[in-house]
Amino acid sequence: MTDTLIDRRDLAFQLYDVLDTQSLLERDRFADHNRETFDAVIETADRMARETFANHNRDADRDEPRFENGKVTMLPEVKEGFDAYAQAGFIAGRYDESLGGMQLPESIMAACNGFFTAANPGTAGYPFLTTAAANLIRVFGNDEQRDAFLRPMLEGRFSGTMALTEPHAGSSLADIRTSAAPTDEGHYLIKGAKIYISGGEQSITDNIVHMVLARVRGAPAGVKGISLFIVPKYRLDDSGQPGERNGVSLAGLIHKLGYRGTTSTALSFGDDAPCHGYLVGEPNQGLKYMFQMMNEARVGVGFGAAVIGYRGYMHSLAYARDRTQGRQVSDKDPESPQIPIIEHADVRRMLLAQKAYCEGALGLCLYGARLMDDQQTHPDPEKRAAAGTLLDLLTPVIKAWPSEYGTKANDLAIQVYGGAGYTREYPVEQCWRDNRLNPIHEGTNGIQAMDLLGRKIWQNKSEGLQLLIKEIQTDLEAATEGRRQQWALSLSETLQRAVKVTQELGGALMNEGPEPVLANAHCYLTLLGHITVAWIWLRQANAAAQYLGNHGAELTASDRAFYEGKMQAAQYFFHWELPTVAQDLMLLERRDDTCLNMEPDWF
Ligand SMILES: Cc1cc2nc3c(=O)[nH]c(=O)nc-3n(C[C@H](O)[C@H](O)[C@H](O)COP(=O)(O)OP(=O)(O)OC[C@H]3O[C@@H](n4cnc5c(N)ncnc54)[C@H](O)[C@@H]3O)c2cc1C
Repeated sequence: MTDTLIDRRDLAFQLYDVLDTQSLLERDRFADHNRETFDAVIETADRMARETFANHNRDADRDEPRFENGKVTMLPEVKEGFDAYAQAGFIAGRYDESLGGMQLPESIMAACNGFFTAANPGTAGYPFLTTAAANLIRVFGNDEQRDAFLRPMLEGRFSGTMALTEPHAGSSLADIRTSAAPTDEGHYLIKGAKIYISGGEQSITDNIVHMVLARVRGAPAGVKGISLFIVPKYRLDDSGQPGERNGVSLAGLIHKLGYRGTTSTALSFGDDAPCHGYLVGEPNQGLKYMFQMMNEARVGVGFGAAVIGYRGYMHSLAYARDRTQGRQVSDKDPESPQIPIIEHADVRRMLLAQKAYCEGALGLCLYGARLMDDQQTHPDPEKRAAAGTLLDLLTPVIKAWPSEYGTKANDLAIQVYGGAGYTREYPVEQCWRDNRLNPIHEGTNGIQAMDLLGRKIWQNKSEGLQLLIKEIQTDLEAATEGRRQQWALSLSETLQRAVKVTQELGGALMNEGPEPVLANAHCYLTLLGHITVAWIWLRQANAAAQYLGNHGAELTASDRAFYEGKMQAAQYFFHWELPTVAQDLMLLERRDDTCLNMEPDWF
């Protein structure tokens, strides 16, 4: 076991050496900050995450929230953690100073939140949902709604949820049935049922603000008839304090594989009492608004998956250094001492795979956060627009790749522990159970794949893909020496094949319709994911090589180990992982119809 959540040196390398985060300081919005303030907030997040989140991670997993006598009971440490997070200003961290925020860049906030998720994903769920719901009200709510709900949420007195899913409508939100009937008093009466709503009931905050998707009576069918409502657990009295109970109630708690500290709720609206909802923005625009929150949440899911993977890697690395077992294959002397398992090449394989997946996924997600910063604050409007286009293209990749490979990393962490990994006495099985949610929620990875290949890749004449290729090209050109040159060549060749197959798929979409193309969307998601993460690794390798080149003689042993480790993990990705997409390319090129043509009754 180790208490390292994310390697601080790796984080600093990725933020400053690879992403040049300090250049954000030149922007007006961040003018009051400096590298020291960024580092101080990261330091605080790391310390607080260990002290107030990691301290109850295992207990909250063992002792799930319970629904007793009409109330949810949960460990008091969850509230203490939430309150500590809110009081330190993290809920409002990215917001304007006028709203009580710190005007921190997304890149820094994402890094900070990484520590809290790595420490305890269950408790982290409550503040993260609150931030996202608050942002929705900030952007699309009216002044009255902002006055009523935003500040209490940013201060951590009220929490937020996103209430989309219904028992019969998960992936297909077009089919939601929850209804909203207008009244003469300005509010709507909400009626329906939602399921899997995270944080939908808890004993942490004074009020819960549900962001609910519903249909105004008579609205068009499908996605064009969905509106967004604020539905508080308690209606506010004249002084803005929680007053009368609103008609949203807990139908039951759902018991899960992981993420057990976050309540998962079935909620009913308007069953026992009238449920007041307040329309956000225009009617029938709800899904568009909610997509803002979902896109942020999708990047957040990717980040969470990357750091839970990372946490498992840290644990298994510490274990592998400590656990002794067996001898070198060439050592036949039974009297010689056993060696630490990290000495075995096969254990190094599993550790290297975890390092390549998790540090690669972390790099991908930090890059996504940087795109958010550039979209919001880059001084050049063209660069702002380009960052938005790239982020839009990469959002399904940022959600899905870390959630798939972060979970794989946790699977490998269990394997590194051997039998101990399978027991609840050691921490890695919980990492795997927690992470296993990430390919499912916020749109399953299957839905992300179809979003990428069915929509995102073609938007604005594939402008996003062109921009990505341009970005990759810059780093290919910088990889001029030694191993990096070889890696750049293999990335360039894979990219060319991917571009060619994309053009073919575009033609097939027009000529043959979506079915044969989207049937293999998962292969395309893996292909673009691996290409993007290979590029992220090339950027890290370029930065590491530069450091090694500039500081050759004066390098300390620990510096050398860090940068050589980066180069070796990059090599692992280029030798062991990137070539695996040949299979995806082959299936896409031939538009393989095996899955498409398998009839349901042939199973
Ligand atoms: C722990 C947890 C927390 C959650 N938190 C929230 C929350 O806070 N708020 C909220 O609103 N929801 C929440 N969800 C719901 C979550 O977003 C949904 O579970 C998810 O979107 C999938 O919907 P579903 O479960 O109905 O599965 P389904 O939609 O029934 O999908 C089942 C399978 O079919 C596939 N599939 C479905 N449609 C298609 C298609 N058209 N093409 C190809 N494949 C398809 C899916 O990829 C999946 O593999 C949560 C879920 C869980 C488990």
